[in-house]
Formats: sequence, C-alpha cells, structure tokens
Amino acid sequence: MAHHVLLLPGDGIGPEIVAQARRVLECLIEHHGLQMTMEEAPFGGAGYDAEGHPLPESTLEKARTADAILLGAVGGPQYDTLDRPLRPERGLLGIRSALGLFANIRPAMLFEELVESSTLKSDVVAGLDIVIVRELTGGMYFGQPRGIETRDDERVGFNTMVYSESEIRRIANAAFDIAEKRGGRVCSVDKANVLECSELWREIVVEEAAKRSSITLEHMYVDNAAMQLIRAPKAFDVIVTENLFGDILSDAASMLSGSIGMLPSASLNEASAGLYEPVHGSAPDIAGQDKANPLATILSSAMMLRYSLGESALADKVEAAVKSVLAKGLRTADIATDNNAIGTRAMGDAVVSELQSIGQ
Ligand code: NAD
Repeated sequence: MAHHVLLLPGDGIGPEIVAQARRVLECLIEHHGLQMTMEEAPFGGAGYDAEGHPLPESTLEKARTADAILLGAVGGPQYDTLDRPLRPERGLLGIRSALGLFANIRPAMLFEELVESSTLKSDVVAGLDIVIVRELTGGMYFGQPRGIETRDDERVGFNTMVYSESEIRRIANAAFDIAEKRGGRVCSVDKANVLECSELWREIVVEEAAKRSSITLEHMYVDNAAMQLIRAPKAFDVIVTENLFGDILSDAASMLSGSIGMLPSASLNEASAGLYEPVHGSAPDIAGQDKANPLATILSSAMMLRYSLGESALADKVEAAVKSVLAKGLRTADIATDNNAIGTRAMGDAVVSELQSIGQ
C-alpha cells in the first residue's frame, strides 16, 4: 500500500526548503519505486493567515491520518505580536502534543566534506556522530501552573518543570532503543543537584537501564554537559534529556557540525508515526531569497523514510546523494568557504540529479 505523507511548509524559508525535499521524494517515486502520495496543508503563521489558527482543525485531521509529516519551519516577526495562543510556535507545541510526539531525535553528525565549516578544530569534530534524544511533550514547556501575574504590586512570571515516572520511563527506553543500535552508551543529562524533578528523572532512568544489559549509562549535570559537548563531543554516543535542557543542548550540538542548515530531526510517538523537520527555524532574514540550505529538510525526509515508512534502502540513497553533492564541492552560503555558493533550488537540483544517477 502507498504511504501517505503530509507536507507542512510553514513560514519563512519553510516553503522553499520543503519544495526541494518534495522534489527529492518525487524523484524516488519516479525512479526508485517509492509508493507514496503527498499533500500539503497550512500550518504555523501560514495556518493563521489561511484559517485564523496556527494549527487549523483541517490540518490536524490530515496529520492524524498521515503515515508521516514533513515540516519546514514556522514563525516570523509579523506574528510576534499575536496573542500567545495564536502564535506559530503554539502550532508546533499543539501538533506535538496532539500526536503524542514525545521523543525528539536529533543526530549531530559531521559529513567529513564539511569539517572545515565547524568553528571547532577539525580533530575535535571530525567523524562526529552523536544522537540527542530530547523529551518533547513534558517539562517546563507544558507544566502547570504557568503565567504572568501581579504579586505584591509587581508582575511575576512563572513556569513549572514537571515529569511523571511514566514520562521518564518512556523517553529513557526510546533512548535505550536507539543506543542499542549504535554504541550502547547513554548519557542522561539532568540537574539533580538542584532540581527535585531531575532527582526523580535520575532515579527512574537508573531503574530502566538496570533492565538492559546492553546499555552503559552515565549521568551528567546539564551545565557540565554543555561544556563537554564543546570540549570533547565525540565522547558521547546517545544523550537523553528533558525538554528544556534538550532544546538548548541540541542547538549547541548543531554548531559542532558547521551549520544548523545541515541538521535533520525526527519526533516520534509510540506508534512510530512521526513528524520530521530540520532543526533550524524559519530564518526570516533570508526568506524568499533562494539562499536557504535545503539539506537539513532533505535529510529529514531520509529519516522519515527510515523511521516511519520502513524504506531504509531509499533513506540510504538520499543520504548518499547528499554526500556526493558535498563531495563535489557544492555549498549553499551557510556552509560555503569561498564565494561560489549556490542557491536553494540549485542545491535541490544537484541532489535530484545525484539520485537519478544512483543505481535503481
Ligand atoms: P533560525 O534557525 O530561523 O535562524 C538562525 C540563523 O540561522 C539565521 O541567521 C538564519 O538565516 C540561519 N539559518 C537557519 N536555517 C538556515 C538554513 N536552512 N540555511 C541557511 N541559514 C539558515 O532561528 P531564529 O532566527 O532564532 O528564529 C527565526 C524564527 O523561527 C522565529 O520566529 C522562531 O520562533 C522560529 N523558529 C521555528 C522553529 C521551528 O519551526 N521548529 C525552530 C526555531 C525557531
């Protein structure tokens, strides 16, 4: 049966980069026997413009029935003054929550062709291949109570970091599953010396790890983890952490690999239906200028083929095509070291052309 994929281009550079990923998927349909249908729906700021809400009901309905979702990015300065529940980022939180997407998987790897793009010394980052597993539906971003209120004649802002045992067990096991297919080493990142929430996190992660003889578990406080990620990133294999810490650490890890424009991500639920998206945002500063790097989105579509659609061989082909394009020296501006940068569309052309020539 054909897979069905929902495309959510979103805002800013989103439509430009999703268009290139779509061409790559169309090439797989045309030349490599992929059985798949695709449709698009408005989401984020585009959802607000079309239907007055960042996650329109019709988009959510399509998302619920799709086998997987490929998202560009959401947000832009024109939406920053909207009421909070109508802002594009709320659409993102809403879809993650509605689909139960609790596990965010962010590989941080460095294509050897791009070793010079990293701001770190090449011996620190060459061959980097780590995965950050971030809990996505709990913690500070969803915890109640939250708000801004007046206390003693001044305004006070507050949020709550909260995790239940079952939420911790679920994300720990998602990380262990991934680690078992790699080096088997998991570093759980918390702040157990200060936060009770982290104390429970650590206790439950230890309990779950004890059930798996193949897993070597270590713990690190988040401030130390931030340092170690920059000092010796290759020492990690899989990092598992809660929502807020993961948000920050995964962006730091993205810089290890040269450009945020290269990094894909997956968010999975228990049924392994997933939402796939580049790590970066909507980059309003370069939107509509054919400057955005589409490779993170194209690599996200490869993750989608592998994790949600069971098409690992095709995922390998997409990744091989990206690698060949880089080996030929083609670069968008964000990863270029000279003045010969190519545009978004030309990068899409190059990947499609490689895919056409890779054995069918
Ligand atoms: P950003 O990731 O959009 O941009 C940061 C910098 O990286 C910018 O200089 C941008 O030009 C560059 N950049 C990002 N993606 C690139 C690409 N593919 N190719 C080349 N350069 C790229 O982060 P920001 O500026 O903090 O946020 C901009 C908007 O995106 C905000 O509205 C924010 O809320 C939103 N945002 C959305 C998501 C998402 O949709 N998942 C994630 C983060 C930020």
